[in-house]
Amino acid sequence: MNLAETLRFRNLLERERDRARAQAARPLPMAMTSPQADALDCAADLSLWTIAQATHLAARRRLAQAELALARIEAGTYGVCQKCGQSIDVARLEVLPAATLCVDCQRKAERTDN
Ligand SMILES: [Zn+2]
Repeated sequence: MNLAETLRFRNLLERERDRARAQAARPLPMAMTSPQADALDCAADLSLWTIAQATHLAARRRLAQAELALARIEAGTYGVCQKCGQSIDVARLEVLPAATLCVDCQRKAERTDN
């Protein structure tokens, strides 16, 4: 990976990190159900809260992944597969800038997970 590509990915990852950080910093909604709420109101509140919680967790995960990828850029190991040490395809990084594995190792990892 050349310097221009590295700088471009750093820029992408910094924006992703800032977006994820802003999203993760949003407070979760408190229970909104009033004392007069019926079962349907409670179910609707629970759904909204569950979605907010999932969004919050996803933002925190994206934030951590972006920060780790930026640390790899600083360390000079960005774009190197953490399993086999080969370069990760730039096209893959375009789609997943925080990717830590090459396509082959990712496929193998997914096979062993299942
Ligand atoms: Zn690999």
